[in-house]
Amino acid sequence: MNKAYITRAAGLLLGASMMLAACGGNGGTNANGTEADGGNVQSGSGTGVVNVFTARHYDIDFAMFDEFEKKTGIAVNEIKGTAEELVERMKREGESTEADLFITVDGGILNYAKENGVLQPIESEGILANVPDNLRDSDNHWVGLATRARVLVYDKERVKPEQLSTYEDLAGEQWKGKVLVRSSSNLYNQSLVASMIELNGAADTERWAQGLVANFARDPEGGDRDQAKGIAAGTADVAIMNTYYVGQMLHSKDAEEVKVAESIGVFFPNQETTGTHLNISGIGLGAHAKNKENALKLVEYMTGKEGQEMLTSGSFEFPVNSDAELPELLKSWGEFKTQSIDFAKLGENNKAATELMNKVGWK
Ligand code: FE
Repeated sequence: MNKAYITRAAGLLLGASMMLAACGGNGGTNANGTEADGGNVQSGSGTGVVNVFTARHYDIDFAMFDEFEKKTGIAVNEIKGTAEELVERMKREGESTEADLFITVDGGILNYAKENGVLQPIESEGILANVPDNLRDSDNHWVGLATRARVLVYDKERVKPEQLSTYEDLAGEQWKGKVLVRSSSNLYNQSLVASMIELNGAADTERWAQGLVANFARDPEGGDRDQAKGIAAGTADVAIMNTYYVGQMLHSKDAEEVKVAESIGVFFPNQETTGTHLNISGIGLGAHAKNKENALKLVEYMTGKEGQEMLTSGSFEFPVNSDAELPELLKSWGEFKTQSIDFAKLGENNKAATELMNKVGWK
């Protein structure tokens, strides 16, 4: 089942490099704005450590590091920050950096790290066997850890899934005052728009964005979860959000979030056309990794069947390794067609995307 999903995604995605951003651990904010904390770095060529510079601050990632440590005796030190801060630090520190691995969300950001020279190729056959080539950099400077889809969610009472079709359709008259999406300052939206520029051209995308903004039920506010809450509160009928938030909300300790998530349906748009927008979380090997062997062991663990099942059961992202069993919720969504673009395009088109969004008044 999962195999089928991955195969399909693999067939539809071309690229190997991808684009930008990351998720903070809580509340759906991206990594921008998270402070680097210096971390608990250990140096030297000791057999017992690996230093991970990470812009992903998910509890499940840290639980995986603990599990890896238990299994191998190799201590994982996390150095947290935004992706930009961490890349900047690795650049500044050059050969003396303690960064063995770099983790972030968004293919554009991963590509940005590569272009800044802070990564080196991963040559481990075990790792390359775990991650299909469409879900890693063309030179293997990073490999995918998990993917996420940006989908439509809708109120199950007011909207029938048959009324939904594409991102483009949300700009139509029928959705006047009924659409919610977060701010244009958010990288998830920037990458979505960047992908549409790639697939539909800038002029069509601008017209679409103009129509979409005209259909907003309110000025953008909050994160992806808040759009779902807006649907449940009756503010609007349909919203754009990332799949994993639905999973996280359904499994939340907050009963209100569970109730919201239960009231909304998930719809994978553009199945008959360009495919649903997909983004990726990835891990790269530091250009000057001092604990290279340990680093590769950790990457192999995180991309292996067991690691992938642990990761996706906590984050509700999709696994990159087709041997991994999907969490039940993701299985229930079935297979879907994804966009067929190089993840690097998300970064390359980012500036055009943000300018376009500003121009049409997407706040
Ligand atoms: Fe997020």
